[in-house]
Amino acid sequence: MDTAITEKEGIAALATLPGDDVRQIMWRFADRFDLQMAVQSTRATARGTVARLVADGARMSHEWTEQKGRLLTAFDESGVTSVFMDPEDGGYIEGPKNTAMALIAFELAWVDGGAATTSLAVNLALAPIQVKGTAEQKRTYMGRCVPPQPGEERTVSRGAFCLTEPLPYVGVDTGVLAGKARVVEWKEGEEPILQVDKRGRFTTNMDFANFVVAAVESDDERIKSSCLVVLEEGDPGIFDRGTPTHKLVHQLSSTCDPIFSKQVPASRIVGGYTVEDGVIVPKYSHSQVLESVFAKTRIPVGAMTAAKLLSAVEPVIRYQRSRFRGGEGAPGTPRFELGLQMKEDVLHRLVEVWATGEACASLAFATARHFDEFEAIEKSQEEFFAAEGIHGARAQMRMRGQLQKRALEYLKLAAKPEAKRDQARFKELEGDRLVAFLIGESVASVLSPATKLWNTGHGATVMREAVSLMGGYGITEDCPGFLGQKWMDAQLEATYEGPEAVQRRQLIITMTNELFLAQFRDWIREMREIAGRRPGTGACNLASAMELWQWTLKHLQKAKDADGKPIYRDKRQGATFPMADALCWLLAARYQILDALELEDKGADNPVLSEALPGLVQFFADLCHVQAARAAGEVGRICAELVFGYNRHPAWDKEGCETCYTADDLESLEAIMPGISVSARGMSDVIERDGSHPNKAGPCVSFAGMGTFKRLRGRLDGCLTGAQLAKDRAAHALTEVMIPEALDYPA
Ligand SMILES: Cc1cc2nc3c(=O)[nH]c(=O)nc-3n(C[C@H](O)[C@H](O)[C@H](O)COP(=O)(O)OP(=O)(O)OC[C@H]3O[C@@H](n4cnc5c(N)ncnc54)[C@H](O)[C@@H]3O)c2cc1C
Repeated sequence: MDTAITEKEGIAALATLPGDDVRQIMWRFADRFDLQMAVQSTRATARGTVARLVADGARMSHEWTEQKGRLLTAFDESGVTSVFMDPEDGGYIEGPKNTAMALIAFELAWVDGGAATTSLAVNLALAPIQVKGTAEQKRTYMGRCVPPQPGEERTVSRGAFCLTEPLPYVGVDTGVLAGKARVVEWKEGEEPILQVDKRGRFTTNMDFANFVVAAVESDDERIKSSCLVVLEEGDPGIFDRGTPTHKLVHQLSSTCDPIFSKQVPASRIVGGYTVEDGVIVPKYSHSQVLESVFAKTRIPVGAMTAAKLLSAVEPVIRYQRSRFRGGEGAPGTPRFELGLQMKEDVLHRLVEVWATGEACASLAFATARHFDEFEAIEKSQEEFFAAEGIHGARAQMRMRGQLQKRALEYLKLAAKPEAKRDQARFKELEGDRLVAFLIGESVASVLSPATKLWNTGHGATVMREAVSLMGGYGITEDCPGFLGQKWMDAQLEATYEGPEAVQRRQLIITMTNELFLAQFRDWIREMREIAGRRPGTGACNLASAMELWQWTLKHLQKAKDADGKPIYRDKRQGATFPMADALCWLLAARYQILDALELEDKGADNPVLSEALPGLVQFFADLCHVQAARAAGEVGRICAELVFGYNRHPAWDKEGCETCYTADDLESLEAIMPGISVSARGMSDVIERDGSHPNKAGPCVSFAGMGTFKRLRGRLDGCLTGAQLAKDRAAHALTEVMIPEALDYPA
């Protein structure tokens, strides 16, 4: 093999691809038997029914066919459908289910993203009812959507979620609703009857949905603002499912442009309503419900792209190794045994695909876990507001303002050593559930959009790399692991539930919350500490990149461009959006490192892993290092572009600048590019060997104060030390790791 392994001696080898024991530790469900069972049964469905459907060409049609309908039965029978429900509604998983949903999406998308979407979309319809519905609504719809138990005489009900409308109405901007609700009948002492008119665009599950949760605005002075409302198939009026969308992707999900014109009782308003001065006041506007729903439902979508990237590893290795088998190569020769793996580039590219997949998965599951933990705190916040009689958005905002100060105080104390802080005050704040809520919320509102944005967006780009590694085969239907379809499908995952612009818009606000930034600073400290004991993970590089990002954000928030206009403003997406992207790189790399360390810490307790553990730990650390370096490079580029890019380039012949060549620079350039010093001199001054600047006025104004940036950037670049060696080691591991004889689902 051509790859130069400089530190091969004494490096533990990766024996096999990581299995369930490894994943359960890294993604923290080793003690959750219920989740492990859910993974196993979902996997059997994915690699059985779903894989057969794809292999049999079910993706070749836009229509929802009887053949595709088998998916729904398979989900019901394997328990996938009821994972979402609480045990009292017929489900079998206690407590929050964000990790459960992410694992299910991961397993299904390992084979096909459309199948995963079909399962997620039923839950997307139920989610508004689950998070904001009345007790009666929850009981009714959850109960109907649970598959019947043996002996029960009923058919299972399925839902669709209808927000997006035909152009030019709702898309990225969810405020411009064309769907309307009016009062058609309101008899004294009885429930008002609403006329609901809504047209949908791209509504998933529409071919078979029995009910639809639709976003509508009031078209009547007797209804306030907007709401989500449940429309049932059997309600009086029109329930036109519409024609199937001619999708290029996700053909194992049903998508149509439906039309509804229905009369429904006002009790179908999600979350209920009150009557104030003869006006129906929905408890929640449509946007209030959407906020809570999407925060959670976007997480499994991020897990889907992670699964695709990781699922590519095994088929690509198999393809590479068998590429030159036959012909002249005989068993035992490098050409026969390694095939394409003799070439460094294919190995390095696969390492990058794998590292990205790990980072995506780590970010998605960390986000899911955070939401699981946060759910209980969120509930106590609602109870507190109710108990204190704090109703209405304004009153709650005021209360939050006071709480924010306490939360910041708590974080400041928490960052200090125990001996140096007011321990009594610290304990008091630590026990405050509302402080905990605000702190948890500040992280949640960053992690959810970050997972959706980075995993699906960047993941789709990297999926293309995986496809390219299979050569022409990659873009055929016969490609093992269905990689071509997964690549195309990834673009839809980056689009639905809000494309990248939606996530970036949220991030640029939530990432500037002081509560988040205070925690971010702690995470920098944490990475430096990890770098001290585990330098091979790239933690040092990541910490430097995190510092650079935070410095740049603060700088941009104050800075003005060459025309004196503020740079970091809502409307200047060219400045704000890239900073959101940069943050996502950092978050993903951070969680990847934390997961690798978790494996190292807890893996030793697992007897099944003991022998393989050193090789796994080494390999995952190398992947972390590769990813951290990639993240640092990306963050460095983005920050440098923004910090310098809004200034005008100085006139070289007049002003000179801090970046003038030194005499040493010119000597070095001259050595490799004879004659260069003449042209360089023409553009720029040369700082004298004694350091004095020929421009007496000093460095040019545009770059004044950038010394800190340059030092931070220089530190970041210096911290790349070892990253390429890590990539070489990981690449070498790919040539030796054992893989099964054949893929475990049909091609
Ligand atoms: C197969 C499929 C299934 C779907 N399933 C459902 C479903 O079940 N229910 C449902 O309600 N919807 C569904 N959708 C709709 C999906 O959520 C929307 O397509 C998506 O939110 C984007 O809306 P849009 O297509 O109108 O894009 P637009 O709003 O037209 O946006 C197009 C692009 O313009 C840019 N852009 C727009 N606004 C801004 C801005 N403010 N700032 C910066 N850039 C901006 C972005 O690059 C964006 O990607 C589905 C879509 C597809 C394709």
